[in-house]
Amino acid sequence: MTSNSRRQFIASTAALATLPLLAERVSAQSPGRKLGVALCGLGSLSTNQIAPALLKTRNCRLAGIVTGTPSKAEEWQKKYNLPASSVYTYDTMHQMAKNKDIDIVYVVTPNSLHMQHTLAAAAAGKHVYCEKPLEISVERCQKMIDACKKAGVQLGVGYRLQFEANNLECVRLAKEKVLGDVKIIDANFGFAIGDPTQWRLKRELAGGGALMDVGIYCMQTTRMITGEEPIWISATEVKTDAVKFKEVDETISWQMKFPSGVVTHSLSTYAANGFMGFRVGTNKGFFGLEPAYFYNGNRGRRSDGTEINIPVADQFQTELEDFADCVLNKRPTKVNGEMGMQDVKLLMAVYDSIKKGRPVTL
Ligand code: NAD
Repeated sequence: MTSNSRRQFIASTAALATLPLLAERVSAQSPGRKLGVALCGLGSLSTNQIAPALLKTRNCRLAGIVTGTPSKAEEWQKKYNLPASSVYTYDTMHQMAKNKDIDIVYVVTPNSLHMQHTLAAAAAGKHVYCEKPLEISVERCQKMIDACKKAGVQLGVGYRLQFEANNLECVRLAKEKVLGDVKIIDANFGFAIGDPTQWRLKRELAGGGALMDVGIYCMQTTRMITGEEPIWISATEVKTDAVKFKEVDETISWQMKFPSGVVTHSLSTYAANGFMGFRVGTNKGFFGLEPAYFYNGNRGRRSDGTEINIPVADQFQTELEDFADCVLNKRPTKVNGEMGMQDVKLLMAVYDSIKKGRPVTL
């Protein structure tokens, strides 16, 4: 699946006390001014989701770009009416320090470039919103968290579903025990990936395969629904195309145990379509979403017959407005670097279990 068809597939179917200086500077700016966001990496997600969302956001706007491709710089500059002074390459990001129009850098490059681009943005004094997964190792995530703390800027992770009403409704059902106590969660996400040359299949850039790319959503679901951290993980991997998936995982199935006794099963795959949701089993019934992870149309049902189908605004608009509001009001983002690092830690434990051929305790 090309990145285009992947997109169509998905579409269809701190502490802030340590962040005084920049937050002061931003809030001291004229009231009502929209914060400026620079998009770093102008690929599929930036082009088709984030830039269009930034045309709708009430408290932030597209104010700059970072790209390594001169033709894209020209095209975007014209399309979004950007001044030449707000167009950067990956090597000139440090010059953003002088640019008062840019408050936030949204990092949308391949996974293993997130650290480099986050560190550059933080060093220029800009708040950072970074796409998932935060990075490809816990150590690299920690460096990003430390750099943002040191610079006095916020670090947020692009977990759009943390703001999506249907996913949040399921969190409420679990927390308030509306259908009883949560006992079992089944969460799966995958798609049949196309172009064998894309960066998602290269270990150096992706850090892993389907697990890092889409399995992370299932990991988020289990943590959101339980409100707990897993204590035991057992995983197994299957590869049906050893050439295409030479460097990264194709399909992984993993189980986890949580302190309250909840047991979860998840599957991430680049081999097949049809997995895109979750089901939560309780002692009195069940609830879940399918699809759960798409850009639009997430919906589901409850065992009492009630539909879960809450209309939602553009998920990228919602997450960006929340992050801009955090910056403007010196409110720590809930999708912080620590949350992103914890997911990476758990994904690494999944790989560790596969490597060791036995369950791992956390
Ligand atoms: P993409 O391949 O479409 O775009 C990546 C961009 O990075 C391109 O503009 C490319 O030119 C640039 N780039 C810079 N250096 C590069 C290098 N060395 N190799 C390859 N590309 C390089 O990818 P995408 O789908 O836009 O994904 C970007 C990030 O966004 C990834 O971290 C991905 O996990 C994340 N993502 C998140 C969601 C979501 O729903 N939140 C959806 C898709 C992608």
